[in-house]
Formats: sequence, structure tokens, C-alpha cells
Amino acid sequence: MTSFASSADLEAKQQTLEILGDGVYALTAEGDPNVGAIEGEDFLVCFEAMATPVAASDWLRLLREHTTKPVRYLVLSHYHAVRVLGASAFGAGVIVAHDNTRALIAERGLEDWQSELGRMPRLFREPDSIPGLTWPTATFSDRITIHLGGERGEVVLAHCGLGHTEGDIVAWLPRQRILFAGDLVESQAALYTGDAYHREWASGTLDRIAALGARTLVGGRGVVARGEQAVTGAIMQSRDFLNTMLARVGAVHEAGGTLAQAFNAAHGALAPRYGRWPIFEHCMPFNVSRLWDELNGVRRPVIWTAERDREIWAELVRGDDPPQPPAALRG
Ligand SMILES: [Zn+2]
Repeated sequence: MTSFASSADLEAKQQTLEILGDGVYALTAEGDPNVGAIEGEDFLVCFEAMATPVAASDWLRLLREHTTKPVRYLVLSHYHAVRVLGASAFGAGVIVAHDNTRALIAERGLEDWQSELGRMPRLFREPDSIPGLTWPTATFSDRITIHLGGERGEVVLAHCGLGHTEGDIVAWLPRQRILFAGDLVESQAALYTGDAYHREWASGTLDRIAALGARTLVGGRGVVARGEQAVTGAIMQSRDFLNTMLARVGAVHEAGGTLAQAFNAAHGALAPRYGRWPIFEHCMPFNVSRLWDELNGVRRPVIWTAERDREIWAELVRGDDPPQPPAALRG
């Protein structure tokens, strides 16, 4: 059997700090979760917190070569452990997230922590440095604007609809047309949809993101998309990934097939284009499982636990004898 999720992915990734505009920074890492920072006149807005305080400290050391301003706002795009559990390293005055993100941390934060630690142990550098769950101290439902001071303009934090989770937000710099999209858009990395609302994400939510008209886009993972064409490409890729899953899993569901057949159909359709991108194999069993639930009318994503992760993996990921889709659906 293939190694569970990313448990065998132990090779460190190269981190690159990129300057996207005056006082706007992103750290990318060859498909590991991206983070960012935006300078106000006398403070910083940081975007995403990494998996542990020790991992976050390395990012802050790199950032401190460019600015010594204190972190006033730490913005969390959504509740996933690898995005939030490093928060204590920032010493932020305010931790900002969507209303639903705080509710999800209360409802399933502990289970998600255990699940993600098992799936991606490499990202959890010194897991004992995590002091506990991260609790947002300011939440909102639609949008909120942070005024950066001086001539720096503003950061708009906005909820664009249901998507990667129930509570994703993006950070948008209208003056510089830079967008931090969280996991709602990936640029040359696979999408994780195990906690997603596929239909809303693939339609209205991505429509609203595209309508912003970004010229630079930092996705949740993968390279920074620079220029209108690259931004459009990243959004189109994310939409295509979702629509392909919806079509293939939907067809097997409609034909009365099984979850395993749906997995094979979606995997087979996506692999030629996305199979080599980071975390593709890791994501697919969880993605198809969630979409199958969604097609069965399960409105809210079921909570992933370390045990449920292993069960789904064992059910869907087999070495030699993959289940075939129904004959009518092949090719
Ligand atoms: Zn996520």
C-alpha cells in the first residue's frame, strides 16, 4: 500500500521570501503552505501562522531581515491546523478570522490537529511547541478593512462564500491588486477538498475571487501567480480541478456505483494534468470521500479524525488491484 497521506514526505522544502510590492511579502516553499505579511505604517499584518510556533519562528526571522514592525494583526484564512497552530510565535495584538472559523475550531479543532499531524508530520516541526488551539480574538461574517496608515492604503479581508471550508477569507490589497487567496486557489498545487463545499466553491465563490481583478495572487500552496494571465490561469486551474471531480464522481454516483469506483474515476481524470503537483495523491482519497458525502446530501463536512483518515485511506488506496469504474464510464 502507498504510504499514508504525506507521512513519507520527509524531505525539507526550499523556502523563498518574495517581495510582491512595497511592504508586501510572501513566503513560498515548493508546495508547502504559503504565508504572507503586509506592512502598515507602524505595524504588520501577517497572513497565516504555519503548523507550529517553531516553524513560524523561521518565517519571522526571514521577515525580520526586511522589517522590525510589530505584528498587530494575524489573519487566519481558515481553521486548518497547518495554518493556525503556530500563532503564538507572532505575539499578535489581534487574531482575525471568519465567524465560522472560530466556530469550527471550537467544534473540530482538536480532531483536525490530530488528523493533520498524522497526515503531514514534516510540517509540525517540534509539535510540543504548540501551546494549544488557536482562538481568533476578532471575527466577522462578510468583510472588514484594515487601514494601513500613511499612503499605504488598506487590506480588505473578505469572505467570498463557501469553498475550501465553511469559513475561508482572502486578503485583498486593492491599491496594489495583490490577493492572498488562502486555500481557495492553488497555483500549480493540488486542491484539498476534504472539508469543502464543491459546488459553491466551483461557481460563485471562485467567480467572486476572479471579479476582484488581482494582478498578483498568492495561493495556499505553490508558486506566486504574477500577472493577469497567471492569476487567471491559477483560478481556472482550481475551477477545472473541482469541475472534473464533480463530473467524474457525479457520474459514478448517478450510475449507482461505489465510492471506490468514484475514486478511480476522479483520480484517472485528474492525474494526467495534476498528478505530479504537490499533495495530489495525499488529497484524493479525502477529496472524493467528502464529495461523495456531498452528493449523498450530507450538508456539512464530516469531522476527520486520525482513525477515519486511516479507514478511508485503506478503503481507497490499493497497490495492485484498483477497482474499475463501471464499463459505461470508462475512457
Ligand atoms: Zn486548508
